[in-house]
Amino acid sequence: KLQQMMYPPELPEITSELSNNVVLTTLNDLYNWARLSSVWPLMYGTACCFIEFAALIGARFDFDRFGLVPRSSPRQADLIITAGTITTKFSDVLVQLYQQMPEPKYVIAMGACTITGGMFSADSYTAVRGVDKLIPVDVYLPGCPPRPEAIFDAIIKLRKKMGAEDFRERGNHQNQTHRYYTLSH
Ligand code: SF4
Repeated sequence: KLQQMMYPPELPEITSELSNNVVLTTLNDLYNWARLSSVWPLMYGTACCFIEFAALIGARFDFDRFGLVPRSSPRQADLIITAGTITTKFSDVLVQLYQQMPEPKYVIAMGACTITGGMFSADSYTAVRGVDKLIPVDVYLPGCPPRPEAIFDAIIKLRKKMGAEDFRERGNHQNQTHRYYTLSH
Protein backbone atom coordinates (compact mmCIF):
# COMPACT_ATOMS: atom_id res chain seq x y z
CA LYS A 1 0.00 0.00 0.00
CA LEU A 2 2.89 2.33 0.85
CA GLN A 3 4.42 1.62 -2.52
CA GLN A 4 1.15 2.49 -4.21
CA MET A 5 1.02 5.82 -2.36
CA MET A 6 4.55 6.72 -3.43
CA TYR A 7 3.79 6.43 -7.07
CA PRO A 8 2.47 9.66 -8.58
CA PRO A 9 -1.29 9.60 -8.83
CA GLU A 10 -2.86 9.66 -12.26
CA LEU A 11 -3.31 13.17 -13.56
CA PRO A 12 -6.92 14.31 -13.76
CA GLU A 13 -8.33 14.65 -17.24
CA ILE A 14 -8.33 18.24 -18.48
CA THR A 15 -11.85 18.65 -19.69
CA SER A 16 -12.88 21.49 -22.00
CA GLU A 17 -14.80 23.03 -19.10
CA LEU A 18 -11.66 23.03 -16.96
CA SER A 19 -9.42 24.46 -19.68
CA ASN A 20 -11.90 27.30 -20.32
CA ASN A 21 -11.96 28.39 -16.69
CA VAL A 22 -8.49 27.75 -15.32
CA VAL A 23 -5.16 29.13 -16.52
CA LEU A 24 -2.83 26.17 -16.75
CA THR A 25 0.93 26.61 -17.04
CA THR A 26 4.12 25.14 -15.75
CA LEU A 27 6.35 26.67 -13.13
CA ASN A 28 9.01 27.00 -15.81
CA ASP A 29 6.77 29.06 -18.12
CA LEU A 30 5.61 31.23 -15.24
CA TYR A 31 9.17 31.89 -14.12
CA ASN A 32 10.36 32.66 -17.64
CA TRP A 33 7.41 34.94 -18.33
CA ALA A 34 8.21 36.96 -15.22
CA ARG A 35 11.93 37.37 -15.80
CA LEU A 36 11.87 38.08 -19.54
CA SER A 37 9.53 40.98 -18.80
CA SER A 38 12.02 42.62 -16.44
CA VAL A 39 15.50 42.37 -17.93
CA TRP A 40 17.72 44.96 -16.31
CA PRO A 41 20.73 45.95 -18.45
CA LEU A 42 23.96 47.26 -17.04
CA MET A 43 24.76 50.85 -18.04
CA TYR A 44 27.89 49.91 -19.89
CA GLY A 45 29.50 51.08 -23.10
CA THR A 46 32.96 51.92 -24.34
CA ALA A 47 32.70 53.67 -27.70
CA CYS A 48 30.42 55.01 -30.43
CA CYS A 49 27.99 52.04 -30.28
CA PHE A 50 27.02 53.17 -26.80
CA ILE A 51 25.55 56.39 -28.25
CA GLU A 52 22.95 54.27 -30.06
CA PHE A 53 22.32 52.24 -26.90
CA ALA A 54 21.88 55.46 -24.90
CA ALA A 55 19.29 56.65 -27.46
CA LEU A 56 17.07 53.72 -26.40
CA ILE A 57 16.65 55.20 -22.96
CA GLY A 58 15.06 58.41 -24.25
CA ALA A 59 11.36 59.01 -24.89
CA ARG A 60 11.62 58.38 -28.63
CA PHE A 61 12.46 54.70 -28.26
CA ASP A 62 11.38 54.22 -24.65
CA PHE A 63 12.81 50.80 -23.93
CA ASP A 64 11.28 50.81 -20.44
CA ARG A 65 8.12 49.44 -22.09
CA PHE A 66 9.97 46.11 -22.40
CA GLY A 67 10.64 46.18 -18.67
CA LEU A 68 14.26 47.19 -19.26
CA VAL A 69 15.49 49.37 -16.43
CA PRO A 70 19.16 50.36 -16.76
CA ARG A 71 21.23 49.73 -13.66
CA SER A 72 24.54 51.25 -12.61
CA SER A 73 25.61 48.27 -10.52
CA PRO A 74 26.40 44.85 -12.06
CA ARG A 75 24.94 43.27 -8.93
CA GLN A 76 21.51 44.58 -9.93
CA ALA A 77 21.79 43.74 -13.64
CA ASP A 78 21.05 40.54 -15.55
CA LEU A 79 21.98 41.77 -19.03
CA ILE A 80 25.14 43.35 -20.37
CA ILE A 81 25.13 44.87 -23.85
CA THR A 82 28.77 45.15 -24.82
CA ALA A 83 28.44 48.34 -26.85
CA GLY A 84 31.73 49.48 -28.31
CA THR A 85 35.32 48.42 -28.73
CA ILE A 86 36.71 46.09 -26.07
CA THR A 87 40.32 46.97 -25.51
CA THR A 88 42.80 44.43 -24.25
CA LYS A 89 43.59 46.63 -21.30
CA PHE A 90 39.91 46.78 -20.34
CA SER A 91 39.22 43.06 -20.77
CA ASP A 92 39.87 42.12 -17.14
CA VAL A 93 37.44 44.81 -15.97
CA LEU A 94 34.73 43.50 -18.32
CA VAL A 95 35.21 39.96 -17.03
CA GLN A 96 35.00 41.23 -13.46
CA LEU A 97 31.78 43.14 -14.20
CA TYR A 98 30.28 40.02 -15.76
CA GLN A 99 31.26 37.87 -12.79
CA GLN A 100 29.59 40.31 -10.41
CA MET A 101 26.23 39.92 -12.15
CA PRO A 102 23.87 37.39 -10.52
CA GLU A 103 22.63 34.32 -12.41
CA PRO A 104 20.82 33.93 -14.70
CA LYS A 105 22.57 36.58 -16.81
CA TYR A 106 22.79 37.36 -20.49
CA VAL A 107 25.10 39.06 -22.98
CA ILE A 108 24.29 40.88 -26.22
CA ALA A 109 27.42 41.58 -28.29
CA MET A 110 26.64 44.87 -30.03
CA GLY A 111 28.58 46.13 -33.04
CA ALA A 112 31.39 45.00 -35.29
CA CYS A 113 34.11 46.05 -32.84
CA THR A 114 32.68 43.92 -30.06
CA ILE A 115 31.97 40.90 -32.26
CA THR A 116 35.20 40.73 -34.29
CA GLY A 117 37.39 43.67 -33.36
CA GLY A 118 35.87 45.62 -36.28
CA MET A 119 38.24 48.06 -37.86
CA PHE A 120 40.83 47.08 -35.25
CA SER A 121 40.72 43.41 -36.22
CA ALA A 122 43.46 43.51 -38.86
CA ASP A 123 46.58 44.65 -37.15
CA SER A 124 46.03 46.01 -33.69
CA TYR A 125 47.46 44.91 -30.40
CA THR A 126 44.98 47.04 -28.45
CA ALA A 127 41.56 45.52 -29.26
CA VAL A 128 40.01 42.19 -28.29
CA ARG A 129 38.91 40.46 -31.49
CA GLY A 130 35.65 39.03 -30.26
CA VAL A 131 34.09 39.57 -26.85
CA ASP A 132 33.06 35.90 -26.83
CA LYS A 133 36.71 35.13 -26.12
CA LEU A 134 36.11 36.74 -22.72
CA ILE A 135 32.48 36.04 -21.79
CA PRO A 136 29.72 33.84 -23.29
CA VAL A 137 27.47 35.67 -25.77
CA ASP A 138 23.74 34.97 -26.19
CA VAL A 139 22.89 37.26 -29.11
CA TYR A 140 25.20 38.79 -31.72
CA LEU A 141 24.09 42.17 -33.07
CA PRO A 142 26.20 43.20 -36.09
CA GLY A 143 26.49 46.74 -37.47
CA CYS A 144 28.64 49.81 -37.23
CA PRO A 145 26.79 50.99 -35.30
CA PRO A 146 23.52 49.03 -35.10
CA ARG A 147 20.54 51.37 -34.95
CA PRO A 148 18.26 51.42 -31.88
CA GLU A 149 15.63 49.44 -33.82
CA ALA A 150 18.22 46.68 -34.33
CA ILE A 151 18.93 46.66 -30.58
CA PHE A 152 15.22 46.11 -30.00
CA ASP A 153 15.35 43.21 -32.44
CA ALA A 154 18.23 41.69 -30.47
CA ILE A 155 16.33 42.15 -27.22
CA ILE A 156 13.25 40.46 -28.72
CA LYS A 157 15.45 37.55 -29.84
CA LEU A 158 16.91 37.34 -26.33
CA ARG A 159 13.40 37.33 -24.81
CA LYS A 160 12.42 34.44 -27.10
CA LYS A 161 15.52 32.56 -26.00
CA MET A 162 14.74 33.20 -22.34
CA GLY A 163 11.12 32.09 -22.80
CA ALA A 164 12.22 28.73 -24.21
CA GLU A 165 14.75 27.98 -21.47
CA ASP A 166 14.55 25.55 -18.63
CA PHE A 167 15.48 27.75 -15.70
CA ARG A 168 17.01 24.81 -13.86
CA GLU A 169 19.60 24.35 -16.59
CA ARG A 170 20.56 28.00 -16.94
CA GLY A 171 23.11 28.23 -14.22
CA ASN A 172 26.66 28.10 -13.23
CA HIS A 173 28.03 26.96 -16.58
CA GLN A 174 27.24 30.45 -17.87
CA ASN A 175 29.56 31.88 -15.28
CA GLN A 176 32.52 30.55 -17.17
CA THR A 177 34.73 33.22 -18.59
CA HIS A 178 37.54 32.86 -21.02
CA ARG A 179 40.73 34.73 -20.47
CA TYR A 180 42.32 34.25 -23.85
CA TYR A 181 43.42 37.85 -23.78
CA THR A 182 45.77 39.24 -21.21
CA LEU A 183 47.58 42.51 -20.97
CA SER A 184 50.62 40.85 -22.45
CA HIS A 185 48.70 39.67 -25.53
FE1 SF4 B 1 32.12 52.54 -33.24
FE2 SF4 B 1 31.41 51.02 -35.35
FE3 SF4 B 1 32.99 50.03 -33.45
FE4 SF4 B 1 30.45 50.50 -32.90
S1 SF4 B 1 31.22 49.00 -34.38
S2 SF4 B 1 32.20 50.99 -31.58
S3 SF4 B 1 30.06 52.36 -34.15
S4 SF4 B 1 33.50 51.76 -34.84
